[in-house]
Amino acid sequence: MTEPRKLLQGSTGDWEVVVGLEVHAQVASKSKLFSGASAEYGAGPNENVSLVDAAMPGMLPVINRFCVEQAIRTGLGLNAKINTWSRFDRKNYFYPDLPQGYQISQYKDPIVGEGEIEVELDGGETITVGIERLHLEQDAGKSIHDLAPNESYVDLNRSGVALMEIVSKPDMRSAEEGAAYFSKVRTIVRYLGTCDGNMEEGSMRADVNVSVRRPGEPFGTRTETKNVNSIRFTRQVIDYEARRQIEILENGGTIDQETRLFDPKTGETRTMRSKEDAHDYRYFPDPDLLPLTFAQEWVDEIKASLPELPDQKKHRFMDEYGLSAYDALVLAADKEKAAYFEEVAGGRDGKLAANWVTGELFGALNKAGKDVDASPVSASQLGSLIDLIKDGTISGKIAKDVFALIFEGEEDGDPADIVEKRGLKQVTDTGAIEAIVDEIIAANPKQVEQVKEKPKTMGWFVGQVMKASGGKANPQAVNEILKKKLGVE
Ligand code: ADP
Ligand code: MG
Repeated sequence: MTEPRKLLQGSTGDWEVVVGLEVHAQVASKSKLFSGASAEYGAGPNENVSLVDAAMPGMLPVINRFCVEQAIRTGLGLNAKINTWSRFDRKNYFYPDLPQGYQISQYKDPIVGEGEIEVELDGGETITVGIERLHLEQDAGKSIHDLAPNESYVDLNRSGVALMEIVSKPDMRSAEEGAAYFSKVRTIVRYLGTCDGNMEEGSMRADVNVSVRRPGEPFGTRTETKNVNSIRFTRQVIDYEARRQIEILENGGTIDQETRLFDPKTGETRTMRSKEDAHDYRYFPDPDLLPLTFAQEWVDEIKASLPELPDQKKHRFMDEYGLSAYDALVLAADKEKAAYFEEVAGGRDGKLAANWVTGELFGALNKAGKDVDASPVSASQLGSLIDLIKDGTISGKIAKDVFALIFEGEEDGDPADIVEKRGLKQVTDTGAIEAIVDEIIAANPKQVEQVKEKPKTMGWFVGQVMKASGGKANPQAVNEILKKKLGVE
């Protein structure tokens, strides 16, 4: 039995948290899983509804080949087994936003079986999380209860939209691990382009299963919190549920296996339905659909066409550019960020490029609430700025100023021209620097006395000279000249 990774302290001893996630990812497809209606987000109510989606009598579902391909791609990205024979089942329940009276899903024979992925945690540690399965299913429509006091409305635009449900093994052991897993799954599907990962638009959400146990004991009873639509909320749900369950157990109570809902306003979960009123879905194979079969050659072809995935990219960044695991992870986590970085780093000092991209650029983008695609400083401009630092034309400090000017829209074009135009070139001419140094030494006799006792105070002189030069003096030259003139070793 392996040692527990992480423990939570209760009032009567330690507890281990166990987490498993069911992630629903909408397939990035123009049309729905079994009809030709548009799957686009944001259309007017019931604009994207075909006769199949509205479950008109006599309509028959026809499988969307593109959606099947995306499920296979995703399965391959999760290092999972692809089942060339799978089957669709009917999951029966009544709800006004489900006109068929059942959801077409996959139950016993999903298209993707077991797999596993690597998940990086904040401290640089990596865990492996098992994938139980991935299956294809239809989304339901949406009931709207708050438009009129005495009526409910139904919007069937989402009815029939293709979802991939990715079920993890109960392999996570903390809120951090659960959140990091969700984030990694999102990164993978975005890399593959099989789901846009847009949580605000509902393209991705998770059912979060949480239980607690004493270290070494069998799994405890779990609760499932439905439709959690952000990574931050996932973390909150796990923290809250773990604490709630520990408190109940420590007070001699038991955990009900139940479905719960998360309230983002309070950060708490509450009961939605308990196991006693759990649905009996009466799953059975959908007689309208043949089993789904395809050739292994098709899977091999898809595999050969996969893009470089985040883990591969991360390791390549470490090897090729000498980046730390952390920098490589941050840069590889997002396809657009990675591409930007590679354009900056090409033919240059990779570490310096990584520092500028993760530091200055990401900082400014974050503050401005902009994506890297919308960066006012292009990768080629940032690359040129780095070249200007490297060849001694400007200092790092001036480079930051020029970066800010371009980012704020006050300047644009070639950074070398901006430096020229604004007279920002570094002063390496020792004569000019010596003149400034002499002036400052003459004006500050007290500090000159002090620096003889405390050589460390020379930093004050460096600051003064840099200021007097408008930040343009070459810092190395300034240091050398000051040392000589002040007699500091
Ligand atoms: P269901 O179909 O009822 O949702 P599954 O067996 O498919 O049940 O499991 C759903 C999710 O619950 C999976 O992600 C799994 O990892 C997780 N899970 C199962 N047992 C536990 C447990 N004891 N604690 C936490 N999560 C669990
Ligand atoms: Mg479930």
